[in-house]
Amino acid sequence: MSESVKYSPMLEQYFGMKERYPEAILLSRVGDFYEAYGEDAQTIAQALQIALTSKESGGGRKVAMAGVPHHALAGYLHKLVAQRFIVALAEQLDPPVPNKLVRRDVVRIVTPGTLIEEQLLDGKSHNYLAAVSALDDVFALAYADVSTGHAAATAFGGDGAYDDVLAELARIAPSEIVADLPPSLRAATASALEATGARITAPSIGLVEVRQRDVTDGFSSDEAVAMRRALDVLGAFIKRTAIASGFESLRAIDYYRHRNFLALDPATRKHLELVHTQGQNPRATLLATLDLCATSMGSRMLGRWILAPLVDRNAIVERQNAVQTFLDEPARREAVRDLLAGCFDLERIAQKARFRRALPRDLASLRRTLEIMRPLAQIVPPALAATVTQTADFGELAGDLARTLVDEPPAQLAEGGVIRPEADAELAECVALRTDARSSLSALEERERERTGIKSLRIKYASAFGYAIEINKAQAANVPADYVRKQTLTTGERYITPELKELELAISTAQSRQQRLEERLYGELLERVAGRADDLLAAAEAIARLDVVGALAQCAAERGYVRPELDDESGVSIEEGRHPVMEAVLHSHFVPNDLRLEPERHRFILLTGPNMGGKSTYLRQAGLLAIMAQIGSYVPARSMRLGVIDRIFTRIGAGDDLASGQSTFYMEMAEAANILRRSTRRSLLLIDEVGRGTGTIDGLSIAQAICEYLLGLDTQAPMVLFATHFHELCALTDHWPLVANYHITAVENTARDGAPVFSHRVQPGSSSRSFGIEVARMAGLPAAVVERAQEIADALSGQPDVETTAPLRRRLQKANAAQEQLPLL
Ligand code: ADP
Ligand code: MG
Repeated sequence: MSESVKYSPMLEQYFGMKERYPEAILLSRVGDFYEAYGEDAQTIAQALQIALTSKESGGGRKVAMAGVPHHALAGYLHKLVAQRFIVALAEQLDPPVPNKLVRRDVVRIVTPGTLIEEQLLDGKSHNYLAAVSALDDVFALAYADVSTGHAAATAFGGDGAYDDVLAELARIAPSEIVADLPPSLRAATASALEATGARITAPSIGLVEVRQRDVTDGFSSDEAVAMRRALDVLGAFIKRTAIASGFESLRAIDYYRHRNFLALDPATRKHLELVHTQGQNPRATLLATLDLCATSMGSRMLGRWILAPLVDRNAIVERQNAVQTFLDEPARREAVRDLLAGCFDLERIAQKARFRRALPRDLASLRRTLEIMRPLAQIVPPALAATVTQTADFGELAGDLARTLVDEPPAQLAEGGVIRPEADAELAECVALRTDARSSLSALEERERERTGIKSLRIKYASAFGYAIEINKAQAANVPADYVRKQTLTTGERYITPELKELELAISTAQSRQQRLEERLYGELLERVAGRADDLLAAAEAIARLDVVGALAQCAAERGYVRPELDDESGVSIEEGRHPVMEAVLHSHFVPNDLRLEPERHRFILLTGPNMGGKSTYLRQAGLLAIMAQIGSYVPARSMRLGVIDRIFTRIGAGDDLASGQSTFYMEMAEAANILRRSTRRSLLLIDEVGRGTGTIDGLSIAQAICEYLLGLDTQAPMVLFATHFHELCALTDHWPLVANYHITAVENTARDGAPVFSHRVQPGSSSRSFGIEVARMAGLPAAVVERAQEIADALSGQPDVETTAPLRRRLQKANAAQEQLPLL
């Protein structure tokens, strides 16, 4: 802003605030509107598709102006944040006085990662802000959901540190990342960070020193320093946006090691559709399938569990025991779940209170929830009672809320009538005065009617003029001399009298006094709630846990899940397992299947079978059941025994991964490399049609080389489920005792032109044929093409031979040549 420009005082004030928050769009409260001026006005007019007007800026000049009504703010904020803008909100700090500039200041910066308004958030999922710091070759990650107070930090050192931190970022999927990286890393990491879809922000100008925190057993000193740094960056950012106090606004920080959880690579999370689906049906995820939670707190916790299954057997067993307790007592389970259904989102309410932004209805929801906690504690099964009863006593707070807040408060404090008059003597007096004044008004009306003899005389209220005596045109001649004419209407005249003026003053004085009193009393109440925020979050945690455990028990009861048996030996044994999501969404019967992976032999399953036979489903099912078992859930099977798994890797062939736009073959190889580097004896690999994304020879060669590499790890080899359409690989059993061939059968349906009927049943041995041509026929490929394909297939068929690759190569070269003339399936 150039020196010579002289703005009106209000614009001076606006641009003064704007200078302090240049990164944000500034919306300033003016009466019933939030307004922006100058460039910001142009920006929001465009972004929100609202009118751009102008305002007298002093000295005869004009400045652009745009505004939104205050009651619609949330919707507009939502649009701005979705477009990745950040917004500074300035409020009026004093009640407005005519002809005087109101004090205003920025009270909050709204950014994607620091939202607390439920209208801007999805109740069932977290919204994380993350900070990444790097110190030499150590990476630290700190993140927080400001709306729930959850905060965590971790660090990665050594070889894969960079990959690890990116993988962890992908897991928590923050909506905003503060990247505190040295210049050398910034450019290289930029695209990886962008790929998370988060808003990327540089650390705030001028780091704020945040209060020292108790770091951290089990971390090296470099890691501890890096984590402290990441937490400082995170805290400074929150402090700047919330204009509040960084970590005082979060609960205790959870320092964790990612190796304390079952590692799921991004491909696994995606292909197993743990929390997001790749298909059309949003319910077709593991989270949605298991989420019978009664509260949002429970849904969010279940989401956290699914994305970070446990590896500590005792911890898993503890959760299983809790589920079992509920399973064994259906009546109690139902009663608890009924009560939980009445609980509101305690976490988000507590956090809003902490930021002093909780509205009257939030506190009414809090009151309702606290009222439920007592009966809840009484009916929780004794084995689980500790979690709920150990939480602090909220009797006093519940009492305060009950005494202070009316039963059904209005949405906004300013509307008045939020606080019970009985709660405060002065307030009671004000309310009584207003009631008195109103009856005085009716009395006055009655008296004036008698005095003037005008039957139609009314005392009316108009917001611009206040109270007035309204008289019809026809009666105007009968108006007494002491009436002062105030306004002429088409139908009549409005008058005031000294007595009416006096009454009006009494009413408005009582009203503004009531408003001030209510504001003060509400502020005090909010203060008391904020003072208990930590306790409330602890109680929320207990409720969420109860809810999740109850939901898992409900799943088990409704769907016949069983309790998996865990042990420390590596291996998996599942009898009649089912795919939890598919069995829920499939209309027809789901065919159960067994799975056995043994410690020494038989830990590499090569699965062949026709297209559409159910290979991919079988692989995903294995992964899902392991994850369910390790979050403490029961599983859809007749029985399951599981040696706790440390990682699940998934590699799905390019053909099944059309959604991702990357060079799929390259991605495939990059992921395969990652798998080969990091798997252990306790890892589970799900490899589905690897090598499909390239020519047949390359594909087969790579698939076989990967098999051989994994098998060569011998006693250190991970457990592998390898689905492939390369039947040649079945010969691997000749050399490697770890390998077992399985296939999925189909029978020809002679009644329907030899079309295959899939049994979806996984059986020992390799399959004799792929039915690819029959599937092509069913899919409607022209008959001539199908016939020709059959000819070629017949010519090519012979015993597969992987020992000497020369005949195989010749055969495949022929196949490749043939493919050039044939449309590919
Ligand atoms: P593949 O990977 O062998 O081509 P999929 O696993 O994609 O086959 O399964 C194809 C379809 O077959 C699935 O969409 C599902 O409808 C059905 N299906 C698979 N497994 C089963 C099963 N065990 N029971 C019932 N239907 C199944
Ligand atoms: Mg498949």
